[in-house]
Amino acid sequence: MNNSQGSLYRNRARLLTAHAEFLAITAARYHALAQRVGPRFNRRGQLVRPGQKLPFTLDNYRIWIREQCLGSEQGTTRCEYCYWPLDIHTLVLDHRTPLSQGGSLDFGNLAVACKPCNDQKGQMRAEAFMHLRKLVNNPQLFSELDRTDCLGRLQSALKLAIKQRSCFEHPNPERVIPHVRTPKNLHND
Ligand SMILES: [Zn+2]
Repeated sequence: MNNSQGSLYRNRARLLTAHAEFLAITAARYHALAQRVGPRFNRRGQLVRPGQKLPFTLDNYRIWIREQCLGSEQGTTRCEYCYWPLDIHTLVLDHRTPLSQGGSLDFGNLAVACKPCNDQKGQMRAEAFMHLRKLVNNPQLFSELDRTDCLGRLQSALKLAIKQRSCFEHPNPERVIPHVRTPKNLHND
């Protein structure tokens, strides 16, 4: 094998590895999303939440991701909120209108984002998050230090709010304290 043949094989091997990686990453994310929105069962196999079926197949999902990354599996794109450059390894998908607020599962409601923006946005709508970003990034209002502090506080407030809401509005049936059989109710059975 001469030198040029060697580099041809090495390039081909690298492309095949990148393709296999693309297939593995997209499959894992697609199935994670399907599971997150799909029906939920408790430990006894009873339906707890009917859930929704993804309105696109894994193949459609891969085509859509490729389109976002300049038509290539190894292409790049940018975070819709902060314009940070991203690729298949670093991008995350965000629902512009959160599913909890009636947002659709369709591609039309999907935004490519970086993980920090996705975490900060939480259950906010995209427009509200962009307004907040504009406000917090205004150098006349906030210094760099204030900004970090503000974002940190907002994130912890958001986590707390989500935790409280999930406790009061959506009690998790699996979290109900197991019924303890005391000698008294043993006799009632
Ligand atoms: Zn971002």
